[in-house]
Amino acid sequence: MAALFTRAAPWLVFSEPPGPLLYKPTKAASMTFVVTDNCIKCKYTDCVEVCPVDAFHEGPNFLVINPDECIDCTLCEPECPINAIYPEDDVPAGQEQYVGINAELSREWPVITERKDGLPDAKEWEGKPDKLKLLER
Ligand code: SF4
Ligand code: SF4
Repeated sequence: MAALFTRAAPWLVFSEPPGPLLYKPTKAASMTFVVTDNCIKCKYTDCVEVCPVDAFHEGPNFLVINPDECIDCTLCEPECPINAIYPEDDVPAGQEQYVGINAELSREWPVITERKDGLPDAKEWEGKPDKLKLLER
């Protein structure tokens, strides 16, 4: 199971042999993943269903990840069709403010766990730069 992940998975806990592999989600590490600029006005929500700890929160035209819940499992990153999710230490230059935005808005917005259709004009907004001014809170 560990081979599924390219980064360390802090929630993988092994019981004493010969016991089975235990899956135990815990917030054991400080790393978080971050939703960045390209999600704004797209919000396809492909990412939310793979999260084992329900760390995604939904706003009107953007999703954020709760850093207090994210366990750095990496599962959501490849699910995003427009590459809007990054580890916090690998956020693209100029988008560092999204680390704080994810933390702030995850305290205000409700949790989302089920995929839904993207926004109606999402295709038009894919890859457009500097969408922060369009973020609806
Ligand atoms: S899959 Fe990507 S674009 Fe869609 S909500 Fe998640 S982060 Fe945003
Ligand atoms: S890396 Fe993504 S899927 Fe994994 S816990 Fe964090 S937000 Fe959820």
